Amino acid sequence: MPELPEVEVTRLGIAPYLEKRRITGVVIRNPRLRWPIPDDLNDRLKGQIIHAITRRAKYLLFECGIGTLILHLGMSGSLRLLSNGSMPCAESGDSLVDRPGKHDHFDLIVEDQTILRLRDPRRFGAVLWQSGNTLQHPLLVNLGPEPLVPDFCATRLYESTRARKSSIKSILMNNQVVVGIGNIYANEALFHAKINPRTAACRIGLSRYEKLVQNIKAVLQKAIEAGGSSLRDFVNSDGNPGYFQQQYWVYGRAGMTCRDCGSVIKQIKQNQRSSFYCPVCQH
Ligand SMILES: [Zn+2]
Repeated sequence: MPELPEVEVTRLGIAPYLEKRRITGVVIRNPRLRWPIPDDLNDRLKGQIIHAITRRAKYLLFECGIGTLILHLGMSGSLRLLSNGSMPCAESGDSLVDRPGKHDHFDLIVEDQTILRLRDPRRFGAVLWQSGNTLQHPLLVNLGPEPLVPDFCATRLYESTRARKSSIKSILMNNQVVVGIGNIYANEALFHAKINPRTAACRIGLSRYEKLVQNIKAVLQKAIEAGGSSLRDFVNSDGNPGYFQQQYWVYGRAGMTCRDCGSVIKQIKQNQRSSFYCPVCQH
């Protein structure tokens, strides 16, 4: 599943080709994503200029003057760009690579025939429209702070968890507390902060929260940098652009030895999600 770093790398990869460009239309091949793609989207977007592409949690926001196109990659979505020289089904040189495949549900076309194509085999992604204030959209209005902004800090996390008996892992996965950390990076940050994922949030002191917040920011930032440095070209690529495999300390390593102390990494289920931790390093 694309996590926050992949979404941010996608944003960085596509923005230079789309910002300040005029939309000439959209193609909806299958509107049945997580929510239906609005059928009047072409009328709304045609002629609009994309002023900026920003991100809130894992939502990509294409800000146009009259409103915002909201795009979410869901479980399996990916975006790629097709440039001028490789029009899909062009009259001459019809290219197999660029012909829309069965999972290519949506195209956004800007001037000079640059196409942003959404591929989403499992169709948990979303393409939506919001007029007016984007952040008032029902999916965005109740979201907690971004993990990489100063507003997300140890003091705030400490104060907001004094009465919370739920586990710190479930707190980190709660979008009203903080958005977009995701399962992989919650596991990794808890390992680096030496906190067991089952620890009740109210039992963690301020200095441990300081270490945790530092590590959350660090693992996400490192993942974004890794994605940026190994960024494949978003133009005319035929695979999943910008997704990257990293070396993890605990995530996906059940039964393997801890890279720090040599103990066996354990795996448990918390709220239907897998948690991985070192029983010796994390307490
Ligand atoms: Zn260990």
